[in-house]
Amino acid sequence: MSERTLLEVSGVSVSFDGFKAINNLSFQIGKAELRAIIGPNGAGKTTFMDIVTGKTKPDEGRVLWGDKSVSLLSMRESDIAQAGVGRKFQRPTVFEDQSVEDNLAMALKNDRKPWEVLFYKRTARDTDRIRALAEEIGLTDQLGRTSGELSHGQKQWLEIGMLLAQDPQLLLVDEPAAGMGPEERDHTTEILKEAAKTRAVVVVEHDMDFVRKLNCKVTVLHEGSVLAEGSLDHVTSNQEVIDVYLGR
Ligand code: ADP
Repeated sequence: MSERTLLEVSGVSVSFDGFKAINNLSFQIGKAELRAIIGPNGAGKTTFMDIVTGKTKPDEGRVLWGDKSVSLLSMRESDIAQAGVGRKFQRPTVFEDQSVEDNLAMALKNDRKPWEVLFYKRTARDTDRIRALAEEIGLTDQLGRTSGELSHGQKQWLEIGMLLAQDPQLLLVDEPAAGMGPEERDHTTEILKEAAKTRAVVVVEHDMDFVRKLNCKVTVLHEGSVLAEGSLDHVTSNQEVIDVYLGR
């Protein structure tokens, strides 16, 4: 594994009731890289994220992580999260009745319970970190607001901020711009690009306009394998990719 590689998936296969959802999948993600994973429905995108986060264990193959090339496959879900893999599901899951600030404070220590944060005396370091995170996600002027009052887009950014609070080395994000208007989508792009300067960010996405905005390397999955990889222009000019997307 090269020293710039964070995650190496090699020869991974997973079957569900005899059906190969992931079929000899191999590819790598760099340490400070923004990557989009695209592919038609059923291509294996969710199963890939489930494997990396430890939710699904493959039947074959290797998933190696970090400088020491440790196997993620021998680790439990909680240990993988601890090792630095963060995952953002499509729907935001913030504590709606807590302020933006308290949500970020809770996320700084992910073992802290919602009620504990109310009685917890924050250190100056925590406060600085919360401010920096709020700035990173563009919610500085919303810190005191109850999270339930935020727009859909703001909730998504808050959740990204909560994941960043745990300082993951790899952030997996599932369709972050779904349901957002153009300005919110642009802001989401900026947040993800910024986050990918210091960590790997993998975005699973359907929306090609959004992928174009991300302006990053794209991996196309089809039937559980990599069909094409490269810039968006490169992969979308590939005849096999065109055929798959047009359902031929
Ligand atoms: P994508 O996220 O690209 O739409 P998925 O990873 O969800 O694709 O699914 C890949 C294939 O595996 C699909 O055909 C899906 O029906 C199948 N699959 C996924 N999870 C399961 C499961 N738990 N049991 C049976 N089949 C599954």
